Amino acid sequence: MKSSQDVLIKCSGVTKEYGVGEAKVTALRGVNLDVYRGELLILAGPSGCGKTTLISIIGGILKRDAGTCTILGKDLENMTTAERAHFRGTSIGFVFQTFNLLPSLTAAENVAVPLLISGEERKFALQRARVILDQVGLSGREDALPSQLSGGQQQRVAIARALVHEPKIIICDEPTSSLDHATGHAMMEILRNVAQAPDRALLVVTHDTRIYEFADRIAHMDDGKIVEVEEAQVQ
Ligand code: ADP
Ligand code: MG
Repeated sequence: MKSSQDVLIKCSGVTKEYGVGEAKVTALRGVNLDVYRGELLILAGPSGCGKTTLISIIGGILKRDAGTCTILGKDLENMTTAERAHFRGTSIGFVFQTFNLLPSLTAAENVAVPLLISGEERKFALQRARVILDQVGLSGREDALPSQLSGGQQQRVAIARALVHEPKIIICDEPTSSLDHATGHAMMEILRNVAQAPDRALLVVTHDTRIYEFADRIAHMDDGKIVEVEEAQVQ
């Protein structure tokens, strides 16, 4: 049995609209979702159903209109901007759909950024970045700029950056979308191993059915709501 202490992310009745008047779009219509310690939860659903909006609210990047949302027991909307930035910098690893790598920094420097922000010494941060880049299969490319890397390689840099500070919560938006099948599979294996670290949870947004097999549970979203939560088949 899972206890309430095992809930690392809890969303209840979360709603969100964008725009006003005729331009208004309802992105979330009352989302309830719990993510447990130690699990890899896939958030699946068609384009436009609200997946990115939901994880942006969970990660404190976007404000919800109504409902409650806590992450590691904390409501990010109750924090100051500085507190929220610190919380994200220590407790959440984000892999954005568009990577958000800094173009003038090398792969290793990009991966080191979360450590530098939290005050680690530059030499240590770069050493640690190289270890993580090796784990995601990018050894030898540490000194390349993002523009010198393929889309799939940039995605792996983004994943390495999300892991480098060993956050409790890892949130990935379409992590395999620019990877071929074999590389996507290898990437999900890395993520699944990462999820098994104690006290950690992974929330992976995807509409790539080929990676469903890596999930402990799959939350299916449609038109701003979670319509079904599926337990993984025992393999
Ligand atoms: P998904 O990630 O599942 O593709 P999104 O959360 O990006 O879905 O979008 C949900 C809905 O909200 C879509 O109809 C989208 O067009 C709309 N939307 C997303 N971001 C914005 C925005 N910044 N302004 C206006 N509408 C938005
Ligand atoms: Mg999206």
